[in-house]
Amino acid sequence: MAQPQLTPLEALRHHWGYDSFRPLQEEAVTAVMSACDCLLVLPTGGGKSLCYQTPAACGRGLVLVVSPLISLMDDQVAAARQAGLRAAALHSQVEESERRSIRRQASAGELQVLYVSPERLMIGDLAAGLRSELALFAIDEAHCVSHWGHDFRPEYRQLRSVLDQAPEVPRMALTATATPQVQEDICAQLGLRGPRRLIGHVDRPNLTYRALPRHDMLAQVLQVIRRHAGEGGIVYGQTRRDVEQLAEGAARHGVSCAAYHAGLPGAKRRAVQSDFVAERLEVVVATIAFGMGIDRSNVRYVVHASSPKSIENYQQEAGRAGRDGLPAECVLLFSGADLVKHRFLATADGPLQPERQRALERQLREIGQFAVAPVCRHRILTEHFGQRYPALPGEQASESCGACDVCLGETQQLESQEALVTAQKIISAVWRTGGRFGPAHVAQVLLGRASEMIQRHRHDELSVFGLLAHDGEVAVRSWIDQLVVQGYLELVERDQFTFLTMTEAGRALCRERVNPPDGARLGRYTRPRARRGGQRSGAEAAVRGGELFERLRSLRRLLADRQGVPPYVVFTDLTLSELAARRPSSLIDMRAVRGIGDAKLERYGQAFLAVLGGASSEDAAGMWAG
Ligand code: ADP
Ligand code: ZN
Repeated sequence: MAQPQLTPLEALRHHWGYDSFRPLQEEAVTAVMSACDCLLVLPTGGGKSLCYQTPAACGRGLVLVVSPLISLMDDQVAAARQAGLRAAALHSQVEESERRSIRRQASAGELQVLYVSPERLMIGDLAAGLRSELALFAIDEAHCVSHWGHDFRPEYRQLRSVLDQAPEVPRMALTATATPQVQEDICAQLGLRGPRRLIGHVDRPNLTYRALPRHDMLAQVLQVIRRHAGEGGIVYGQTRRDVEQLAEGAARHGVSCAAYHAGLPGAKRRAVQSDFVAERLEVVVATIAFGMGIDRSNVRYVVHASSPKSIENYQQEAGRAGRDGLPAECVLLFSGADLVKHRFLATADGPLQPERQRALERQLREIGQFAVAPVCRHRILTEHFGQRYPALPGEQASESCGACDVCLGETQQLESQEALVTAQKIISAVWRTGGRFGPAHVAQVLLGRASEMIQRHRHDELSVFGLLAHDGEVAVRSWIDQLVVQGYLELVERDQFTFLTMTEAGRALCRERVNPPDGARLGRYTRPRARRGGQRSGAEAAVRGGELFERLRSLRRLLADRQGVPPYVVFTDLTLSELAARRPSSLIDMRAVRGIGDAKLERYGQAFLAVLGGASSEDAAGMWAG
């Protein structure tokens, strides 16, 4: 079928209703359209799918997309079709007759984008058979090809032989995270030929990070949920028990939520997942088993009720918030005990090899530092992945990011001398109690609480008893964690108990008279400020969550339900908030709103105009012809 040739920019406007490319998108499109291979590393929400769909939209032929997650493929096809592309998917859950029909369409040049699982691609001669139609091989989640990545898939190792069946077809490998080592591996394993390497900046400026000392898991989780009433969120718990208790607790407080973990039957898990994607469910409380198959773009917050085991894990899990680029919040509730638990789990089957043990300790130290260091959290995450923060050399390094608790001034640093004296009091309490008690006990001693246990050990007679009575339990417990992470104290696991002991550095610190330059740093947490999100403008905040926005959102949900597609593929939250703010009164005005291309304008324009003109979402959906 002859297709009109569009330039990339024309295609972007026509199909997606966007005015300009995001960083690196145009470079990626141009590379493959001039037959050059390319490796594209863009963070979640960076707009990767548009990079391989644009050449198809320009009429260059068929783009074959290899994607490892069957659960996501159907949503990706739905999104592409909504943008007016002829798209389909081939995977094990597509019926044989349907598969034949899709292959026929592809061979006849009637398809523009074909998603295929790696397994399917291996069967028969799909790629060779379609060779004359192919404009591009796009390999999504390309880090799966690498042993060094976090999600190795053996099938990905066999992709190269398939790609080599059509050597003239350019290749685009895409991933959200890849260390330099993984990047090398991707290029080698997929046989990329002199590829353009397009490596984006890892920072996600629309995410606001907070890391708080945990003192009451449920209450703190509920606080975050309440800040986002009516919005979608994910709460991660470490164990099934945590997950179940949090879900029950939240439900008791009237939150629309469900638990999700590997112990639930498959049907139940699928139901939770699809309810969440379809916005019938606001909050999912889950172990990390949840998330791989989640593409909902308007997840407005992710809470970790306890610490993940590495910064990589945190980046990936927290990164599920705000894919649509609108402000979203990521909260980590931290306790030093979380790290002890991870160490315990990692070594449950016996001691690790020295090298793995060192890697584990480094990972735990890094995530601990992320949680308690008084340093901008965007900066810590970015530097962890070997990049500069802020990204642009012109930006002042000391400038506030405006989107983390540290930069928002929610953590107050103790002045240097006060931090030293406080640290010394805490370390002496650990020393005086002989390193044979846990953090809770040591905190009680410092707070001057004469519990039965404290009296039994005559710890109420120690000089350190009650030394920090005025600081409160939350601060004292958090300071203990901060000193653990800074290496002055240590948590050791012995006979199923956790003991707090002093390290050499801690002993040395106790002898100091002034705080050394890299000495103890202690912060005290205040409550979250009202401001959240780096980019939220006042006008937008007023619109989102407003009455009109909610009516538009409700229409979106009704129309999505009628087509059996996720709401975010109809319109993103960004498009809805622009509609609510600009209130277009004609199709022409509406076309200027970001995210409304020609296909969506034709399909949904009238229905949304009706709601903008005052109709109820039910009435507008009732009139919608589909
Ligand atoms: P990724 O796969 O990299 O996580 P997506 O392809 O899902 O990202 O895109 C994320 C969001 O950004 C989508 O809502 C998409 O429509 C939007 N988007 C992509 N490119 C642009 C652009 N050039 N301008 C505005 N929005 C864009
Ligand atoms: Zn910051």
